Amino acid sequence: MKYYSTRKKSEEVSFKDAVIRGLAPDGGLYFPERIDKLPEGLIGSGASIEELGYEVAKRFVDGEIPDSDLQRIVSETVNFPLPIVEVEQDVYSLELWHGPTCAFKDVGGRFLGRCLSHFVQQSGDKVTILVATSGDTGSAVASGFLGVEGIDVVILYPKGLVSKIQEQQLTTMGQNISTLEVEGSFDDCQAMVKQAFNDPELRAAMKLSSANSINVARFLPQSFYYFGSYEQLEDKTKPVVYSCPSGNFGNLTAGMFAKEMGLPIARFIGATNANDVVPEYLKTGIYKARPSIPTISNAMDIGDPSNFVRILELHGGDWEKVKTSMVGYAFSDEETKEGMRDVISRTGYLMEPHGVIGYMAVKEYQKHHDVQGVVLETAHPAKFGDVVEPVIGQKVEVPERLQEYMKREKVATLIQPDFNQLKQYLLARAK
Ligand SMILES: *Cc1c(COP(=O)(O)O)cnc(C)c1O
Repeated sequence: MKYYSTRKKSEEVSFKDAVIRGLAPDGGLYFPERIDKLPEGLIGSGASIEELGYEVAKRFVDGEIPDSDLQRIVSETVNFPLPIVEVEQDVYSLELWHGPTCAFKDVGGRFLGRCLSHFVQQSGDKVTILVATSGDTGSAVASGFLGVEGIDVVILYPKGLVSKIQEQQLTTMGQNISTLEVEGSFDDCQAMVKQAFNDPELRAAMKLSSANSINVARFLPQSFYYFGSYEQLEDKTKPVVYSCPSGNFGNLTAGMFAKEMGLPIARFIGATNANDVVPEYLKTGIYKARPSIPTISNAMDIGDPSNFVRILELHGGDWEKVKTSMVGYAFSDEETKEGMRDVISRTGYLMEPHGVIGYMAVKEYQKHHDVQGVVLETAHPAKFGDVVEPVIGQKVEVPERLQEYMKREKVATLIQPDFNQLKQYLLARAK
């Protein structure tokens, strides 16, 4: 299987090279030359997520990791529950937060970490993973790579724009994980990372790779839980839509890949906060990136979603086709708070600020469509306790694995949103 760049100005590469490079040299995102269907009869057969995930992964890895290793990698990737919970009639929450850092990004982080580790061990290279995070990516990637030999991780996060628990997770892992606290926005962090990949001097000094959802091994495994959750739906006759609280749209893109592979999803709902570049595009046909706006669902504060180009690529760049395949809704912080109060008071189910945006989008969609909706609940509410608790007027219990991080000491290097500072920092490490 070859991977080409969405900008089509770089060479096609193998899965291994796509994973190691992250971003294509021309600044495009890698995209598989074709998307193969799963075997006839497997979907809806009650197969386990390990089995389904392995069948998915096999099609994209295409022999570049031996089958037995790939099977182990997939099993380790999804070695925690990924259940759907009925919130009310025809609305399900797919709880993606039962992993080590309590967010869905654990799935991608674990798969990517294990794939890269496999390739690095093979070649003896040393790889530096550069990752910009709006909160959850950094910790999931760090946790997926912690202690992995041959891999160094450097995390960039926007100072003051992540929650306390997220910051503790980002800055206390130690070992092969280092953290830069940037006096700027997430977009600044992301731009600096992109610039680093395109910098010839850095590329010559070290092997840089990315762990953002631009990396194929980060976003592809996220399709596993679309398959896994579909098996859990009791009613497979009523159309089902998936609603993704979206920032970089990696999760939603993974769902679209699952559909291409044969999963019968009627439609996707892209749900955003005030950073509504994609809902606006769906309305107007014009994609207009903007600086991000800070909100209470900060993991989605993204003004230029990186996976949007993959969505376009899947639909031949055709706005009409994109609109058939997905709808978009955006919600303000006020609506988000009201949504959290509403769900818990009517149903007793607690959703955090990202998931509840997906939930509200399903409810909007169901006003005009008789469908079942699965909402991706992307994080545990305790990760956003400082937002959630005042809104619902009660304490949120913090899972033990999160409490651990709160006890440790923060270690981070403060830098300006200036590419040169990042470059000097990295060059000093390469020596
Ligand atoms: C990263 C993240 C999102 C956004 O996911 P994308 O794949 O970037 O669209 C949503 N919710 C939470 C809690 C996240 O951490």
